[in-house]
Amino acid sequence: MFYQASVPLCFVNRNDYSITFNNAYKKVFGSSNENYLSIHDWVEKVCYNHQINDLEKYLHDILTTKPNCILRPKECYIKKDDGEIRYALVYGSLVYNDYLLTVLDITEQKLIENDLFNTKEQLQEVNQISLSILKTIPYGMNIVDPNGIILYQNNNLSNYFKESVLGNICWEAYRDDKTQCKDCPLKLKIPLGETVYCITDKALGGKTFNISHTGIIYKGKEAVLEIFHDITEQRNYEKSLQNALRKAEESDKLKSAFLQNMSHEIRTPLNGIIGFSQLLKNDGLNQNEKEEFISMIDRSSKRLIELVNNMIEISLISTGQIEIKNKDVCINELLAELLYKFSKHYNSDKIQLINHLDDLSEWICLKTDELKLTLALSNILDNAFKFTKQGAIEIGCIDKDDKVNLYIKDSGIGIDKSHHEKIFDNFYQVETSLSRNFEGAGLGLSISKGLIEILNGKIWVESELGKGSVFWISLPKILGVRNIS
Ligand code: ADP
Repeated sequence: MFYQASVPLCFVNRNDYSITFNNAYKKVFGSSNENYLSIHDWVEKVCYNHQINDLEKYLHDILTTKPNCILRPKECYIKKDDGEIRYALVYGSLVYNDYLLTVLDITEQKLIENDLFNTKEQLQEVNQISLSILKTIPYGMNIVDPNGIILYQNNNLSNYFKESVLGNICWEAYRDDKTQCKDCPLKLKIPLGETVYCITDKALGGKTFNISHTGIIYKGKEAVLEIFHDITEQRNYEKSLQNALRKAEESDKLKSAFLQNMSHEIRTPLNGIIGFSQLLKNDGLNQNEKEEFISMIDRSSKRLIELVNNMIEISLISTGQIEIKNKDVCINELLAELLYKFSKHYNSDKIQLINHLDDLSEWICLKTDELKLTLALSNILDNAFKFTKQGAIEIGCIDKDDKVNLYIKDSGIGIDKSHHEKIFDNFYQVETSLSRNFEGAGLGLSISKGLIEILNGKIWVESELGKGSVFWISLPKILGVRNIS
């Protein structure tokens, strides 16, 4: 029975410690084991990694067990005939007075265990690396479920919040308007391991993020890993570059318009002066014709002087060389005089003039620089007459807490909203073609704006194309005394 048993067995005689192996043992561990005469010999030559004393102690322990009682097994390496090492588990027991050792080959099982151990170690390593990455990664990072519910957040992201937002919907936590982005990648089912990027504006307090969304498995369920790359500065930089480019293009356009317009604005009056001077040489002219030519020369000269004055004014404004001389200025009188002066100059009977200042119960007198304010208002009134062929021109004033708001309203051609800010730029004109019907170098409003700002005021326009315009000037209400004289 001992020899035929299917389990590898060794029989050790208790008197002389001689050892006998059964067939199964020889088959598993090699037949040359038969050469070992005693258990000591076997332990020394075959059992690796095992202290002889240790095994002998084990044998001694067997003695103290009751017959047929199997002792706690011992692990050892057994060297086969061909040198291969097998891992074995030895169970010792007493059979009558002798020892019976059952030697099980557990090499395969041990290998699997080792593999598992290694895999566990590797997993621990990977986990540790992941944790270090999560801690040190300089980006906000979170994990959400496919419906956008926040399952995990790293410190970089959770630092944005006073209280935990775990369990909240991500767009409600992160987006300033608390709504899901139109092209939010969570709307697509992101396959495992794949990454979809999306740029989100106005998140976490006006910032812009490029967020990568990667399909992952988290705690055994499908989830999405989101990494927030803050590109706010980059975006602002891009925007400022685009603005700078747009401004450069605009000023390039303005430069060409300016050159074209200036040569037109200089040549026209010069041609007038030269042409009519030549005509004056003609002897056969009557008095009326002479006076007409002289007045044409006079008009052209004034136009030229005005242009030169405007150029000087704008360069003084832009170099900050304007000196302010404040005095008591009666706004009612100033505006009424200007309206009268321009109505005489343009002499149009198709335009009704309305002075709402006459309706005011009180005079408005401000402490300001009269010359600068007169020039600023003149440019606006001049435009009102220039761009209004018929209808009405109205002037008025609204007294507002600490401000006085003056307005000049016309029913002229009007200005499209897209030009409202630009018309206050140097040389800007809504219509720039040479065939434009209006005189001007595009400096009037920029001079007005410069002067009004020097007087601590504001200037703006309300207008619609074809529906007339209202130019507003708001001045600080520093009241002066009316000069009766
Ligand atoms: P300009 O010498 O051409 O009048 P401004 O600086 O005074 O220069 O005005 C700039 C441009 O703004 C004008 O060329 C015109 O296109 C527009 N503009 C100004 N005032 C009016 C107005 N009252 N009605 C319509 N367009 C106006």
